[in-house]
Amino acid sequence: MLDVVDVGKRSLATYRDVAPDSQLDELLQLSDRLRGARCMHLSATSYGGGVSEILRSLVPLYNDLGIATDWKLIHGDEAFFQVTKRIHNGLQGAPGELTEQEKAIYLANAQLNASRIVTDSEDYDFIFVHDPQPAVLAAISTLRDARWIWRCHIDTSNPNPSYWEFLAPFLHAYDAAVFTHQDFIPPRLPIRDVHVYAPAIDPLSPKNYPLPVDLARHVLEWIGIRTHRPLVTQVGRFDRWKDPLGVVRAYQRVRPHIPDLQLALVGSLALDDPEGWDVYEEVRAATVGDPLIHVLTNLVGVGNIEVNALQSLSDVVIQKSLREGFGLVVSEAVWKGTPVIGGRVGGIPLQLPEETGGILVDTVEECAEALLRLLRQPEEARLLGERGREHVRENFLMPRLLRDHLRLLDHLATARPLAPRGLAPIPLAQASLPGG
Ligand code: UDP
Repeated sequence: MLDVVDVGKRSLATYRDVAPDSQLDELLQLSDRLRGARCMHLSATSYGGGVSEILRSLVPLYNDLGIATDWKLIHGDEAFFQVTKRIHNGLQGAPGELTEQEKAIYLANAQLNASRIVTDSEDYDFIFVHDPQPAVLAAISTLRDARWIWRCHIDTSNPNPSYWEFLAPFLHAYDAAVFTHQDFIPPRLPIRDVHVYAPAIDPLSPKNYPLPVDLARHVLEWIGIRTHRPLVTQVGRFDRWKDPLGVVRAYQRVRPHIPDLQLALVGSLALDDPEGWDVYEEVRAATVGDPLIHVLTNLVGVGNIEVNALQSLSDVVIQKSLREGFGLVVSEAVWKGTPVIGGRVGGIPLQLPEETGGILVDTVEECAEALLRLLRQPEEARLLGERGREHVRENFLMPRLLRDHLRLLDHLATARPLAPRGLAPIPLAQASLPGG
């Protein structure tokens, strides 16, 4: 059996005054046509990173709309996740080559998980496979009635050919693929039906729900942040592509000008990310002995509420990535009205268009300059945040993402009609709209 992630219940109706009405209305129409369908989302981990953040919100909303949906996890041991991390890096363009032994570890894991999917298959109409870790499963699974969709969340615009040529032949079995940006579609992709849409944040999750300022201050004081001093934060897995050491260097350039400036570097250490520990040690070594730099992790209890408080009360948030599939953390901060300095890579520019949400940078020096500017000009920082929040509302909240998912399912069900099933009960979202 595959592990099923418990996600609880959620109602689309609760988004009515938060997300645009047009998106909610279209969702209700689409769900009418798809009600009774069965869907599975398959990923590598239930915690630590953007995919799990998205599925935790998306899966209950599918169910609320009458599409019976499960989120399941593939099994993997440390050796497997070492290999998949290398594949992840290679597909984002890192140098190197997979050894024969690494390929064997990856494929043996796929065989194991393929047999587990079949034993607990509940005759799904749609199977979404997220990222490279489970990507081979479509080709080797005997579940052929489902429409298989590969959702690639990373920037595969320029993959290292030795990794891409290994993976690509296994992708032909997919009915469709989804990328975050047109430019991320890799060369010679063997999937013909390709869709492009961005991820989104959940404005009602504990991470993004508005926190009273007093509570947010209390939460930050509790973890050692001094709330009367200026604060800049980066939140992200300890991953070299997120360039935490570049953030430390930019901060150190600004510190002589603003001596009481604090830096919070928050990173989760995820089960499928063994490299994270090495990067964490490097960050510790670069910051040890500086009481104004706070290195915080999930292992010391820094979770959704603490991240919420940091993103809400920081003067500036940084996401100085060198490669980035999307970077949910950018929209998370901007949604709270906090301006973001973001690396000009991957999905970050989508979230920070001209004069909106923050400033794009290419180097440590530019990052330091932008940081000093925003700290010295709080009115400019405030306006950037305000305009950015509206941009996030229109483009990067969960109902828009759910709508794009359902448009895709509807398109696939039109191309190959679903087997008839008994109608599911009318979902709560429909029964209670409008006005909750
Ligand atoms: N995150 C978190 N704690 C951490 C690091 C990350 O809660 O210490 C969350 C972050 O708030 C965001 C997600 O994990 O919701 C990371 O998603 P993103 O798209 O930014 O990056 P990914 O990890 O998918 O590369």
